[in-house]
Amino acid sequence: MPAAADEFHEPLEAAARLAGRWLDGVRDRPIAPTAGIDEVKDALGRDLADEGMDAAAVVEALSAAVEPGLIVMQSPRFFGWVIGGTAPAPLAADWLVTAWDQNAALREVTPGVNAAEELAGEWVCDLLGLPEGSVAGFTTGATVANLVALAAARHAVLERVGWDDTVDGIQGAPRIRVLAGDEHHPSVDVALRWLGLGRPIDVATDDEGAILPAALEAALAEGTGPAIVCLQAGNIHSGASDPFEACIGLAHAAGAWVHVDGAFGLWAAASERLRHLVAGVELADSWATDAHKTLNVPYDAGIVAVADPAPLVAAMTMHAAYLPAAATGIDAADRVLELSRRARGVPTYAALRTLGRSGVADLVDGLVDSALALADGLRRMDGVEVLNDVVFTQVCAGFEGRDVAGIARALDDDGVALAHPSRWRGGEVLRFSVSNRGTDAAATEATLDAVRRVLAR
Ligand SMILES: *Cc1c(COP(=O)(O)O)cnc(C)c1O
Repeated sequence: MPAAADEFHEPLEAAARLAGRWLDGVRDRPIAPTAGIDEVKDALGRDLADEGMDAAAVVEALSAAVEPGLIVMQSPRFFGWVIGGTAPAPLAADWLVTAWDQNAALREVTPGVNAAEELAGEWVCDLLGLPEGSVAGFTTGATVANLVALAAARHAVLERVGWDDTVDGIQGAPRIRVLAGDEHHPSVDVALRWLGLGRPIDVATDDEGAILPAALEAALAEGTGPAIVCLQAGNIHSGASDPFEACIGLAHAAGAWVHVDGAFGLWAAASERLRHLVAGVELADSWATDAHKTLNVPYDAGIVAVADPAPLVAAMTMHAAYLPAAATGIDAADRVLELSRRARGVPTYAALRTLGRSGVADLVDGLVDSALALADGLRRMDGVEVLNDVVFTQVCAGFEGRDVAGIARALDDDGVALAHPSRWRGGEVLRFSVSNRGTDAAATEATLDAVRRVLAR
């Protein structure tokens, strides 16, 4: 057991040194891993040894074994999925959260970290233009934020017809209609599956994947009773957002709860220049977003927000004789699913404190500028077409009959930049998501050079 008062120093110093070295190399390192999972397992040692090992030595050996299997997701030329980088302050704050080891379920028991978390939640609601009095909770990611928000939605719409799902469950409850655009994110499906609500009714979308209000109106008119409408800020292929003002008006007129999945797209609201893309989003009832994408906070930073906390608390609350509720305010355990939980909102506090209001706007604007530059360069190449209207951080390129998966593999082998193949509007596309604070003009130029090299082969 504890060997000495300073037993943490050596392993933590080793971790800081190794992390620093890794981060210093991020800009120039080839992006793809050089070792596969079996090689890494061999290097880690497949059998649990009988004898233990010194803590600092474990940290050194772990780093040596794992590093060849790391993909440089932090690279400013990594455009795969929608994956942000990590800024220094939230990364360091994340380490502190682990060192402090607070179980941050109850705000009066762990006031230090809950104060930072609650402020971070309030600041996010403010930056995103959500209504006064909105309440936020920190989840592992937007998938769970969608689940938590939709649990609140389910409770609210059933309560309106006199059914209490917290007592009677949903078996035998009035049927809830759930509607979503036909290009909604699959995390909405998994949330609905968990909640016993099944597959949503698909609502037709336009060429950019944004819901057609007339189609939503028609779909709403086809039924009656409790309803939930899931809208989206930021289509993962086009970056487009649903026309919130029109859609939310229609949904509310039909008595529906409106939830917005805005994992990355909601951050348009933090920029004066881009806010128009999500005009009216504040009229919704709940929102899900991520700090680990656009805001460049380390993973484990999802955010759920609701305009009215009552149904959220009804759906999430967990207390017992040994777990007294706070005398004032809303405990973290009443905002999200977890009971034992790290104070995962603290790194978001650190990110927002370093950036400030204008820094957040500049970050989002900068990502969009890089996406525009990338799209511009791609359009100038022979046989390359940009298929989406580039309004936010997403660029979908088509390659006139060429094998897109092959182009993606060749780009991967080239090592300078990474983008993923996908299918959109019935065709093969190479999708670039610009989500890293380090993606500057030099990074986009180097990426365009890499694409030119690959296409010239
Ligand atoms: C990434 C993403 C999600 C899921 O978020 P996680 O943080 O990965 O759980 C949901 N919706 C959209 C639109 C996304 O881009």
